[in-house]
Amino acid sequence: CPTPALTLQPARYAALGPAFACPVSPQPLPAPAWVGVSAAAAHLLGLPADWADETHLHALTGNRLLPGSEPLATVYSGHQFGAWAGQLGDGRALLLGDRAGPGGVWEVQLKGSGLTPFSRMGDGRAVLRSSIREFLASEAMHALGIPTTRALCVIGSPAPVRRETLETAAVVTRLAPSFVRFGHFEHFASIGDHAALRTLADFVIDQFYPDCRRADGPADRPPWHDPRLDGPPVPWATDGCANPYARLLEAVVRRTATLLAAWQAVGFCHGVMNTDNMSILGLTLDYGPFQFLDAFDSRHICNHSDLGGRYAYARQPQMAYWNLHCLAQALLPLLDDSEQALAALRPYRETFWTALHRRMNAKLGLGEPQPGDADRLEALLRLLEADRVDYPIFWRRLTDAVAEGALSASAAQAQAQAALTPVRDLFLQRDAFDAWATEWRQRAAADGAAAAEARMRAANPRVVLRNHLAQLAIERAQGGDARGVQELLHAIQHPWDEPDDAALTDFPPAWAAQLHISCSS
Ligand code: AMP
Ligand code: MG
Ligand code: MG
Repeated sequence: CPTPALTLQPARYAALGPAFACPVSPQPLPAPAWVGVSAAAAHLLGLPADWADETHLHALTGNRLLPGSEPLATVYSGHQFGAWAGQLGDGRALLLGDRAGPGGVWEVQLKGSGLTPFSRMGDGRAVLRSSIREFLASEAMHALGIPTTRALCVIGSPAPVRRETLETAAVVTRLAPSFVRFGHFEHFASIGDHAALRTLADFVIDQFYPDCRRADGPADRPPWHDPRLDGPPVPWATDGCANPYARLLEAVVRRTATLLAAWQAVGFCHGVMNTDNMSILGLTLDYGPFQFLDAFDSRHICNHSDLGGRYAYARQPQMAYWNLHCLAQALLPLLDDSEQALAALRPYRETFWTALHRRMNAKLGLGEPQPGDADRLEALLRLLEADRVDYPIFWRRLTDAVAEGALSASAAQAQAQAALTPVRDLFLQRDAFDAWATEWRQRAAADGAAAAEARMRAANPRVVLRNHLAQLAIERAQGGDARGVQELLHAIQHPWDEPDDAALTDFPPAWAAQLHISCSS
């Protein structure tokens, strides 16, 4: 076999010691085959264009080791659906090692590579269906400018895996600067190992939040920060605070608030926002029963297993805040007092609303938020919800309406109205829409139609990874034809462009509402 291009170094995380992770070898799978490969993710690792050969196919299935790889499973705990779940850990994921590339240092992880000491009742496997969903969603979120773990590839195997029905196995190769979760901190707090808790916090600060060491340090500026969405900063509650762990908590609070604003704006439902699925870097992590909204419904529950609707769309920001309280509680042994934890949590609300209004304003073609914007947005969302208007199509059509002259001062009233007709047609309550649109046009026209259109084109994706699109690609792949996955990948990696295939931007078919996506994966 030729030497693989993907060489690794032992994970930085391994240096924390045996209390944090244990060595585990991946379990082989028969007859692996490529299902999807992300060239964009491969670029981050500095891999050559033709990297996806037979050697890598076997290595990223877990059938042979990559040079430098020392696979390990990490231990974490967490709160699941509001209750303490105790020890969890990487039950089917393995950290293969670190890779330094042009995109920084990445942890390379296999998901679905077999049993670990943390598998509990599970089989250590992931099915093709959910692996394709995770692969596509990771790359879709990134293309939308939303912080997320990445996915290099998904590989299928005919090995049977039992879920509700008999399915087949797959392995996703995931990438992140770090896969540390809130649950890693909760674990060491729960067993009373405060030395390990401090070691973990120091690792995260040194690697990812070095500013937390300086009481007067510059505000946390995550690498995916979007200068287009800059505005007046929300003041830091822990400014001048000498405790780096309080600063860390506030930095995580702020990144999480920003992440949730991005989710809400694009209509992303995570589905399983347990504390073990919350990234310490504020990344979208662990794609299971996620969904991008079709019809707008603030109470939408995408996870068929979430009977109480704990993680319903509109509750996500509150649930993230709840999770941050769990993180704060875990960090208490490192903080001066509980007042310090509460102070670090306080900026969540303002950071979230500021980021949300800025994102929603961009979708509406508006600049810096002004008095009245929030009320007009609220009125719009109520209308979308009452009429169950398709969320992605509403924004697409509104963008197109602006391109057709809906805001232009020179356009005759009749032309502006004609431009808005495809948007208006989405509503049952036409009078209510007209009233809203009149106010929106006045507000948006003040900044100029060209500026509005540019903002909208950069904020309203033309292609969204809806459940039914993923499902069609999955069913084709289950039938042995993986080309649908690669085609869909291409479209969702270019979400701002009009795709060649008009079916990608159409309304969901009736059967989409019958797709029951659960925790089973
Ligand atoms: P999740 O709900 O997917 O975030 O998973 C929660 C916990 O269950 C984590 O510790 C996972 O590693 C573990 N887990 C989920 N599915 C499996 C599986 N099939 N085999 C082993 N562990 C699993
Ligand atoms: Mg998980
Ligand atoms: Mg999962």
